[in-house]
Amino acid sequence: MTVNSPLPKTTGCRETPVLKQRGQREVFCGLTGIIWLHRKMQDAFFLVIGSRTCAHLLQSAAGVMIFAEPRFGTAILEETDLAGMADAQDELDSVVAQLLSRRPDIKQLFLVGSCPSEVIKLDLARAAERMTQTYAPHVRVLNFSGSGIETTFTQGEDACLASMVPVLPVSTSRELMLVGALPDVVEQQAISLLTQMGIGPIRVLPAPRAADQFGVGENTVFALTQPFLGDTHAALERRGARHIAAPFPFGEEGTTAWLAAIAQEFGVAQDVFDRVTAAPRDRARRAVAQASESLRGKTVFFFPDSQLEIPLARFLTRECGMTAIEVGAPYIHQNIVGPDLDLLVQGPVLSEGQDVDLQLDRCRAARPDLTVCGLGLANPLEAEGMTTKWAIELVFTPVHFYEQAGDLAGLFSRPLRRRGLLKLEAA
Ligand code: SF4
Repeated sequence: MTVNSPLPKTTGCRETPVLKQRGQREVFCGLTGIIWLHRKMQDAFFLVIGSRTCAHLLQSAAGVMIFAEPRFGTAILEETDLAGMADAQDELDSVVAQLLSRRPDIKQLFLVGSCPSEVIKLDLARAAERMTQTYAPHVRVLNFSGSGIETTFTQGEDACLASMVPVLPVSTSRELMLVGALPDVVEQQAISLLTQMGIGPIRVLPAPRAADQFGVGENTVFALTQPFLGDTHAALERRGARHIAAPFPFGEEGTTAWLAAIAQEFGVAQDVFDRVTAAPRDRARRAVAQASESLRGKTVFFFPDSQLEIPLARFLTRECGMTAIEVGAPYIHQNIVGPDLDLLVQGPVLSEGQDVDLQLDRCRAARPDLTVCGLGLANPLEAEGMTTKWAIELVFTPVHFYEQAGDLAGLFSRPLRRRGLLKLEAA
């Protein structure tokens, strides 16, 4: 007997009407993704074509060590470059030539677009093609946009991975592709569980090195590890690969459902699945129960930021005993977060996009126990006496799969405990 779905059928939020708003938004741009991507792809270099603001963002976000040779940099377009685009292209060619002659370890170069209008006018796709012809086969040059006009902070990873898909070779092998940049230790946990079930070969996008490249085709099935990979999902489907839809692997329940969907696809027997997952499931359940004690009965409000909001709301409401008041997401891709929406108990407002002032009014009126939002909103809300959690931490901290389930609950309970201690001290 192959694996059954471990989840009960529920009347979730897939059909809930979504409040769609477009207005001023408060989010980081997609350049932020370079901070975690450059650690994951060990022979890649990210060259941001941008302004001094972009350089400052990267340096302050990454805490760049000036004596280390980092794997990202900014080619700053000065005002004078605006005079002629031909000059800007020549300048870019010369920056890349210098970089690649100094750094023979670079095997993949990403030209990353940004907001300034002069950068938007530069045809980085053509530049990447031209440079690939110059530097192949030693270096592959690709491009994507991290512009704050087009991307929220997690979409930088999506744009980067999507840019890699069209150049993957054709493959006819039956393979599982895990898609999303996870910390190595977390990625290994997932691969180990799947391997123990007899599932393989397993590929990971992004691969750590260009030489580890693998193919894609109609026999490729893929599972996303992050819910913000909409463009990558579409690019893989265009290459013939098939998505294994599942709730995202946050918490014990999400991890079990995600693994079960893959196990079903590969015809794993129920007793094998149970044997492999029983011990880590039990550890995860106990860790979540302990870490979520202070979350039970509390309310939570999500501002749109990371695109993790819907799976996290599912985790907090189903496994940690919280009630969601509003779950805002920058975009809601039904084909990606649909299985999480199916499990999210009806009740919260679902909102897509943002008109920040209107959303702040709703949040203040609701006075949630915990507000999950970007850095720009957290400080003013804290000053008003509200308890907040920075959404960006959820991307920088290992939170996927069984062994991190307790830590994930802990990330939400910590601000509530801190607020409780501050109240005690003030009393
Ligand atoms: Fe600012 Fe745009 Fe540069 Fe991001 S890409 S740092 S939003 S100028």
